[in-house]
Amino acid sequence: MLGPVILAASRSDRMRRLISAAPVTKQVVDRFIPGETVADIVPIIRDLTDRGLELTMDVVGEDITTPEQATAARDAYLELIARLKDLELGEKVEMSVKLSMFGQALEGGHELALANVRPVVEAAAAIGTTVTLDAEDHTTLDSMFAIHEELRKDFPQTGCVIQAYLFRTEADARRLAAAGSRVRLVKGAYKEPAEVAYQQKHEIDKAYVRILKTLMEGEGYPMIGSHDPRLIAIAQELAHQAGRKLDEYEFQMLYGIRGDEHLRLAAEGHRMRVYTAYGTDWYGYFMRRLAEKPANLRFFLRSMVSK
Ligand code: FAD
Repeated sequence: MLGPVILAASRSDRMRRLISAAPVTKQVVDRFIPGETVADIVPIIRDLTDRGLELTMDVVGEDITTPEQATAARDAYLELIARLKDLELGEKVEMSVKLSMFGQALEGGHELALANVRPVVEAAAAIGTTVTLDAEDHTTLDSMFAIHEELRKDFPQTGCVIQAYLFRTEADARRLAAAGSRVRLVKGAYKEPAEVAYQQKHEIDKAYVRILKTLMEGEGYPMIGSHDPRLIAIAQELAHQAGRKLDEYEFQMLYGIRGDEHLRLAAEGHRMRVYTAYGTDWYGYFMRRLAEKPANLRFFLRSMVSK
């Protein structure tokens, strides 16, 4: 029951100011967002890749209000990619981007987001890696898929995310399960109305399995974005049934969640990619992590009162 309340708070400016200014928040935030700058994050990249993990990097931020902020977001990714070039990690480190951060919700936002994300995709391709477009709330998805299709004309490796809780996703998965596509399947992290999305966990889990089956039986490259042990076991079984080799799909999990499982899957020979967020505008990302697990909220509140 707490999840929807926290997700509503994630869109509140008042809560943003309150929580961002709380003296102890930073310590708790660090569990999920382990740095603010490229310099902070490079040692983390080195450490995780040394341990056999791959990464997808997210410069946190969303819901921007000016075109200048969108340009700054583009530049933040370009700065990261310039640093990754020196590290020579190729496709071991890819980028995840939220189009809202690139101006999608502003006037003329579709074109603006495309214009801002294209140089990031180009720069990523130039160092041998790629970009995945995150899925945000359902009102943004037609634009996201259109931008994805446009980028794929020049950069076919560009990936996208689909969310199992949305009714539309089974059809999206059928369309996307084609040769050369890279698709991350997640349960979905936003507060969505009953007209467009399943509300019950068991319905979402069942949809996840149906969609995963479509992706595994298709010709694309499925990326399983989940920490759910049951779904991970099912994914392994579906991959086996579809005759996929270990390098023909990958698991993805978030930094700070089930770290032992990241290492276990990598040790079994799976491709395991850790979604690693960094930056200063962490509020929206952090609140979604609290909403996913009420125990996180209890830990957060305890840290505030024990200070
Ligand atoms: P759950 O049933 O929520 O969790 C299974 C178990 O994992 C829990 O019992 C718990 O042990 C652990 N766990 C899960 N979440 C947490 C947490 N926050 N803190 C502590 N433990 C936790 N959503 C989008 O809407 N768009 C995206 O683009 C997107 N990208 C993602 C990328 C990756 C790599 C991943 C892993 C998730 C992404 N998500 C995205 C979030 C996703 O939609 C879910 O909200 C999130 O993954 C939780 O669902 P779950 O599949 O892990 O299952």
